[in-house]
Amino acid sequence: MENTFWQPEIETLPRKELEKLQVEKMRKVLARAQQSAFYSKVFADIGFKPEDFKTVDDIRRLPFTTKDNLRANYPFGLLTCSKDDIVRMHCTSGTTGNPAAVLYNRHDLDSWANLVARSMFATGARASDIFQNMSGYGLFTGGLGFQYGAEKLGCMTIPAAAGNSKRQIKLMRDFGTTCAHSVPSYLGRLHAVFLENGLDPKKDTQLKRLFIGAEPHSEETRQRIQEMFGCKAFNSFGMTEMNGPGVGFECQYQAEMHIWEDCYLLEIVDPETLEPVPEGEIGEMVITTLDRQAMPVIRYRTRDLTRIIAEPCKCGRTARRIDRIKGRSDDMFIIKGCNVFPIQVERILMKIPNVANDYLITLNSTPEGDTMLVEAELHPDFFTDDYPQLRTLQQKIARELCDEILFTPQVKLVPPGSLPKTEGKAVRVKDNRKG
Ligand code: ADP
Ligand code: ZN
Repeated sequence: MENTFWQPEIETLPRKELEKLQVEKMRKVLARAQQSAFYSKVFADIGFKPEDFKTVDDIRRLPFTTKDNLRANYPFGLLTCSKDDIVRMHCTSGTTGNPAAVLYNRHDLDSWANLVARSMFATGARASDIFQNMSGYGLFTGGLGFQYGAEKLGCMTIPAAAGNSKRQIKLMRDFGTTCAHSVPSYLGRLHAVFLENGLDPKKDTQLKRLFIGAEPHSEETRQRIQEMFGCKAFNSFGMTEMNGPGVGFECQYQAEMHIWEDCYLLEIVDPETLEPVPEGEIGEMVITTLDRQAMPVIRYRTRDLTRIIAEPCKCGRTARRIDRIKGRSDDMFIIKGCNVFPIQVERILMKIPNVANDYLITLNSTPEGDTMLVEAELHPDFFTDDYPQLRTLQQKIARELCDEILFTPQVKLVPPGSLPKTEGKAVRVKDNRKG
């Protein structure tokens, strides 16, 4: 039988042994963390010693680490080794104030590349694949993270970076790209450029797999991407604070993402009480790095909302899976007393064939109260400026949105390509009510 695992022993480790391994690794991580200015103080404050860590549940004796902690201790406050040993840094976008910076030694980079290689392998990608990375390079981890992971797997890699769709298509066709990585929101635009040039990615490329991640997206969006490109799309989860991509990934069954629990300790907590939620319930994902030396992070509050899927996966990997990310707790907005996640709007829009892939939610405050406008681009195949026809469709969408979010927003269908585009992660909500 063909080799299905990148690291068979680790990936199929029975859960009891996996937990034993986690405890062993945790003690080492804590001992290292204690070398940093930040954690030595945190541990001293609660009188905690790394050797006190005996079972996985002891994690609850430790306080959480937040993005604010990382910012306040920027750039070296969490470093556990000499600066001479650092070989790379990445950081989050940090448009206001300090970003959260992550520092890597050589071991950390090897371990990260290995996890990305393991993730790609789990989807069925192999050394013989030709991999094109359509993600931004530079400080954003999706560039170099996938680059070194794909090289470790042995793929010929094309560091195409983000944007420049015509060149992406040329590279894909000239080099016979078989798998590629992108933020999901870019793929609709790329597809449009294929069509404008009289090409169909289903026939005119050799794509078999797309890795899509870095932003929340719905199952409906995945289905659309698969239909547009005629290949499989795999959900990829990562975040800078946890290295970058390669924290969680779907296997060949596309049945939600395995979190690589030999390297990340996973908890789901209630974001209000910070107590663990019963298994299978939605809460905030909290992660501890188990294999990072230069800058371990303990009980990091990701703000991402998801749940654990406890049932074992058909693939035989024992790492548990998490459900598609519902959104970040800070993405949620409240309007007319209703809690809304952008992904709820996306799910409804993507079910409607007349609607293309881009949409924008604008929130305004008026003397009559708050308003929510959903603008969605019409699909070029269904473009019309016949007002009565548009109005009927807008009303239908507004009704369906109301069933989902419990009040009726304004809906406006706009011509294809007319909404603002970003390079990298898509901006889906403009909240003009703040400040
Ligand atoms: P920034 O915080 O600057 O956006 P990151 O690139 O590190 O920087 O973003 C990580 C975040 O991106 C995650 O915390 C999560 O909210 C989101 N994310 C990453 N992958 C996925 C995914 N597959 N599905 C949904 N959200 C994702
Ligand atoms: Zn699986």
